[in-house]
Amino acid sequence: MTEPVRVRFAPSPTGALHVGGARTAIYNWAFARRTGGTFILRIDDTDPERSTAENTAQILRSLTWLGLDWDEGPEVGGPHGPYFQTQRAGNYRVALEAMKANGTAYPCFCTAEELERKREAARAGEGTLGYDRTCRALGPDAASARIAAGEPHVWRLAVPEGRGDIVVDDAVRGETVFPASAMDDFVLVRSDGTPTYNFATVVDDADMDITHVIRGDDHLSNTPRQILVFEALGHFVPRFAHLSMIWGADGKKLSKRHGATSVEAFAEEGILPEALLNYLALLGWSLDGETTVVSADVLKAEFSLERISKNPAIFDAEKLEWLNGVYIREMTPERLVERMLPWLEEAGLTTAADVAARPEWYAALVPLIAERLKRMTEVVPTVRFLFGTSVELDAASVEKALATPEVASSLERAASALAGLPEWSAEAIEAALRSLPEELGIKPKVLFQAIRVAVTGSTVSPPLFESLALLEREAVLSRLATARAAGEA
Ligand code: GLU
Repeated sequence: MTEPVRVRFAPSPTGALHVGGARTAIYNWAFARRTGGTFILRIDDTDPERSTAENTAQILRSLTWLGLDWDEGPEVGGPHGPYFQTQRAGNYRVALEAMKANGTAYPCFCTAEELERKREAARAGEGTLGYDRTCRALGPDAASARIAAGEPHVWRLAVPEGRGDIVVDDAVRGETVFPASAMDDFVLVRSDGTPTYNFATVVDDADMDITHVIRGDDHLSNTPRQILVFEALGHFVPRFAHLSMIWGADGKKLSKRHGATSVEAFAEEGILPEALLNYLALLGWSLDGETTVVSADVLKAEFSLERISKNPAIFDAEKLEWLNGVYIREMTPERLVERMLPWLEEAGLTTAADVAARPEWYAALVPLIAERLKRMTEVVPTVRFLFGTSVELDAASVEKALATPEVASSLERAASALAGLPEWSAEAIEAALRSLPEELGIKPKVLFQAIRVAVTGSTVSPPLFESLALLEREAVLSRLATARAAGEA
């Protein structure tokens, strides 16, 4: 490859960034980074009804959250701006002028009714499918006169006579042949002066010197038309790479029915950005066919178009969750505490100042919980009992673990054993409690479950003795007393 790589991600801000778009963005970004090229973000906001500034802001936020940075585009600018299609009307005018001048665009005055009539006729077997080129036969003088008279018109591409079949040589899918007969003189600019998608996209890709177009294969059918526009502009045709769609496990196109699909929803559900990046990167691309943990750095060093699969990708939420757990467990305790902090703060459990004041306490907490975490949303319910003075005892747990007389008196014995400990550590606590069941003639499981419910408020918790050690002794004793009373009530 001689030219420097220039790729773009061109979302339409008609909604949030979803996994399909995010994957397209990741592949473009990774390809640019691997090749030392340029990653451009362009906002295709030509649909005025459905495009909003809030959607654009959300797309930018989601890309940034995933760790993707762009070299040209909104917020960073660049030499090929503006990077919003609605601000590029001048570019489309210039391109249309060039095509008028070289005879590859012509005005069409056929009305919507006329076109509909022709389509009807074509469907009935008379006449050509697609535009019949009536206005292409008008001489330039006649056309100019009608324009001067103010007659409404669109501009169409004059597909070259004898152009032949159009072959899309795709980096992922190989060759797809589109027969020339299927290419009609399609509209470039509407009668209100706005460009169509196929025109605006190509003008932008040409102006921005895009070398590779990596996008979803829902656009494959647009590609032959776009190739014709590149040719009409006298511009090189970029290399195309069309990615297969993402499907749900049920074989249907991924949609809300399958749960979260927007990047923001995954963030809210406690998925880490590096896990989602990793998961989406491998949803249609592979490093070596077996590696499942692929960091952003590996992508930047290794990503290649050759290893993109053309098979449909199946979105597997469980696998993503598993991968998320892997990332959680791989973090150092300090790093995980940092990542937990926003969740803890939002729940009102703690503050950054508290973390700074007793880092060892937080670091000691991590090994107790990391093993069982799959999502960051699980952090707060898992550790809530470690904050504040009391826990809420729900009736079912009380009934199950506390409501027998022998348990109540055992809790009292446990409390006095703990009250007398010279040292408050997990080892000392365990030593004090281990022999108690036998002394009391009660099953260990029964006693420890009662203590667990009393202290954590739940029948499932991190390891018991370590959890007790993380609490103040007074808090443990008062919870044991409260639970005893609850069990007796
Ligand atoms: N705005 C188009 C989309 O979101 C871009 C398609 C393209 O990459 O050419 O589907």
